[in-house]
Amino acid sequence: MLWWREQVGDGLWVAFTDKAAGNLALHVGDVPASVQDRRRSLETELGMVPGSLRFMNQVHSANVGVASTGQPAPPPETEIDALVSPQADVPLAVMVADCLPVVFAGSTADGGHASAVAHAGRRGLLDGVLVNTVSELRASGVSDIRAWIGPSICGRCYEVPAHMRTASCEQLPQLYSETSWGTPALDLPAGAAGQLETLDVETRRLNGCTLEDSRLFSYRRNPQTGRFAGLVWREL
Ligand SMILES: [Zn+2]
Ligand SMILES: [Zn+2]
Repeated sequence: MLWWREQVGDGLWVAFTDKAAGNLALHVGDVPASVQDRRRSLETELGMVPGSLRFMNQVHSANVGVASTGQPAPPPETEIDALVSPQADVPLAVMVADCLPVVFAGSTADGGHASAVAHAGRRGLLDGVLVNTVSELRASGVSDIRAWIGPSICGRCYEVPAHMRTASCEQLPQLYSETSWGTPALDLPAGAAGQLETLDVETRRLNGCTLEDSRLFSYRRNPQTGRFAGLVWREL
């Protein structure tokens, strides 16, 4: 059910699901009731209030939303690719199948936790979705920001046209890569780690290539695929 999980602070957890947790996305042609059932099972299994896990309407933008129990939730149709919970009081999810799921944790001024998630594909990464997420956290007074980059398509598998590699690497040189079969590629986890390092965010990269490991969903392997998720939540 979980690819990886760890308690990253007092009562604060980060996890990434795998195929065993099933498809968690409503936008991929799956039966909505089945998706909702899987989301409820996950919440129950991980000790969250049922129905509290916040998903995003992801569109490969660099837009960041804010989620707090003290504020009205943004409407579910709001197009965002990152979500910050300044008190870590709302459990957050990011859905992926090749793109990078990035989960953040940090400390608030009063010694509490903050959390965030971001969906970073090539476009979002270059448009600054991670930069914007870190800015939003810092604007909320969050310090000691740490990030976990979950399983994604790796730099040896993510083939792109040569012109796309050239243009992308002009902006973010760490993206430069070559596939294991010798064609132009991009290394999204390396690009993200490079950006986060520049932002002074301590970053951990988890193992797992979505294209190579059939325990994970991969859009490149099958465009009709489901989505797994990166999660951050506070223990009840
Ligand atoms: Zn994506
Ligand atoms: Zn790979």
